[in-house]
Amino acid sequence: MGTLDTYYTRPMSPPWSKPLDVDRLSEAEADIDFAVPLAELPRLRAQLADVAGEVHGRVHFRRVASIAVAELTLNGTARLVCQRCLGALDVGVEADTSVGLIAAEADVNRVPEEFEPVLAPEGRISVGELVEEELLLTLPIVPLHTDTDGGVTCVAADVPPLATDGREEDKTQRPFEQLAELLKRK
Ligand SMILES: [Zn+2]
Repeated sequence: MGTLDTYYTRPMSPPWSKPLDVDRLSEAEADIDFAVPLAELPRLRAQLADVAGEVHGRVHFRRVASIAVAELTLNGTARLVCQRCLGALDVGVEADTSVGLIAAEADVNRVPEEFEPVLAPEGRISVGELVEEELLLTLPIVPLHTDTDGGVTCVAADVPPLATDGREEDKTQRPFEQLAELLKRK
């Protein structure tokens, strides 16, 4: 993990960060294998100040009723920081989900009910954004050790959780999450 500091000066962007043409991939029923370091996902990092670890998996694209669908399977480990004792907290991550990719929010109603709609502005989204969207929904916003963490003891179990030091302000940068909340209200 010692190489993360050099990421922003690296000249080449990793394959998972490249925007993909979802229409073309869904017509070709393409498969894309990936390995994504969590520390390099900006929206995830905004939500969970210290996040490390890696997930790997595959995206399979297909079409369902004129909608491009991405089937995302992934697993790995997210290394978070317990907000009570500030100790390392490893969270196993596993997902097997299908999302309907839409170019604009107006297309939400065209997505078959069994798929969660995800925005792919102008028909483009990167594997990193798909992975990030899933992790934002599944990882705890305030990570805390629990009794089930394989014998790891929270060293400050009686101390209340720390404040989230203003990270709520990032909400305007999360169009997908807002979309998910809009849909929940329907
Ligand atoms: Zn703890």
